[in-house]
Amino acid sequence: MPMYEFKCEECGEKFERLLPYLDAQNPQECPHCEKISGKRVVSAPSVSAASGSDSFGGSGGYGGCGPTGFG
Ligand SMILES: [Zn+2]
Repeated sequence: MPMYEFKCEECGEKFERLLPYLDAQNPQECPHCEKISGKRVVSAPSVSAASGSDSFGGSGGYGGCGPTGFG
């Protein structure tokens, strides 16, 4: 049995119920104010916004090799 989320239109309380699909279409009793005002909340699928990734390609290298000549 799927779990559905409801929101009470009376007090705004959110609650979840395990219900058959057909029962979930009907308003449910709010556990907070005990009124039959719980409307099913349809949760939207999470959409990830397109984001560009910036990468810095920087390489700084100093070669500390030098010929040393002593005369
Ligand atoms: Zn309520």
